[in-house]
Amino acid sequence: MNFHEYQAKQLFAGYGIAVPTGRVARTADEAVEAARTIGGEAWMVKAQIHAGGRGKAGGVKFARTLAEVKEYAKAMLGTRMETYQSAGVALPVDCVLVAQATDIARELYLSMLVDRSSKTLTFIASSDGGVEIEKTAVENPDAIKTLHVSYVQGLQPYQCRELGFALGLNAKQVNQLTKIMLGLYKLFNEKDLALVELNPLAILTDGNLAVLDGKVNSDDNATFRHPDLAAMRDIRQEDPTEVLASQHDLNYVTMDGNIGCMVNGAGLAMATMDVIALNGGTPANFLDVGGGATKERVTEAFKLILSSDKVRAIFVNIFGGIVRCDMIAEGIIAAVKEVDVKVPVIVRLEGTNVAEGKALLKSSGLAITAADDINDGAKKAVAAAKSV
Ligand code: GDP
Ligand code: MG
Repeated sequence: MNFHEYQAKQLFAGYGIAVPTGRVARTADEAVEAARTIGGEAWMVKAQIHAGGRGKAGGVKFARTLAEVKEYAKAMLGTRMETYQSAGVALPVDCVLVAQATDIARELYLSMLVDRSSKTLTFIASSDGGVEIEKTAVENPDAIKTLHVSYVQGLQPYQCRELGFALGLNAKQVNQLTKIMLGLYKLFNEKDLALVELNPLAILTDGNLAVLDGKVNSDDNATFRHPDLAAMRDIRQEDPTEVLASQHDLNYVTMDGNIGCMVNGAGLAMATMDVIALNGGTPANFLDVGGGATKERVTEAFKLILSSDKVRAIFVNIFGGIVRCDMIAEGIIAAVKEVDVKVPVIVRLEGTNVAEGKALLKSSGLAITAADDINDGAKKAVAAAKSV
């Protein structure tokens, strides 16, 4: 689950990490009121969307007067914003964060994530912040410092100090960085996060460190034990098809291609997408209908797949292990009839009662193409998608 910058900053503040004073506004007048309450002489007006790269897209503005606050908030609110990080989607700007503006001397980068290759929680820091970290990794790899945290010892203050000095910070800044990192580490563990990114973590002209932007991503599998995080979910920022899928307990991820995939089991679903790619096709989605693929779930799955107008063929790849193939075949037939599927449907069934399942599909009178195995199914789906 992703969070807005203002929510990330609320989480940081709860763990003793100082953030610039800010308020959320949903109208231009509220933005002016927020700026007035915050006080000072300059404010940042920042579009709240689930994507970084807002600065370059006009979603981060420096306002010197209350009139400017109003003007910027008005220009952002109610619009949709696309950034180089929003994967081609324009996200709705429903609110802005009005924050105390600060004078930046230098921008750093700090993130914390679960590093699967070293099996540790890892901090990544760069003295070259404010830009895309991927670019720094290519052009100036020495600027990037990595710290793997031992899960036995946990994060030790001396490790934070080492990292701070490696980034070229002075003693006071190193102490501030240590406080930020220890707070992040506690937050990360207690809230079951998957990623935290501070970009920029700024050195201000007065010499202090300041957290100016925050991106947080949490582990969806742990949301059930964090009702406070669940309450922060903003489904308007999410893919509508994926939201619908989550309501039906289906694991669905939208992809770019044109072959809809309906598979049971995440591993088989991944393999199916690979085999489609090997045969020269592109999947329109990842979809795991789960072990107990009932008629209702299969119907919902068809509806989800067909909600995309890109889909030119559907490849159903089901292994009847827990459920029987004849039951699945009945589910597919009922779903195809109910949903009025107009694109070619290719079905590969394997497992318990496979002969009965295939016979049912054949005698259904519906335009369902049977496949012998996963490769044959993928080939037929790719050919069908190309011929439409
Ligand atoms: P992003 O583009 O979505 O990552 O949004 P950020 O919050 O990182 O803002 C983009 C850029 O705006 C930052 O890299 C800073 O250069 C600048 N910025 C953000 N906050 C402040 C601030 O308080 N003062 C000043 N002067 N610039 C800021
Ligand atoms: Mg940023």
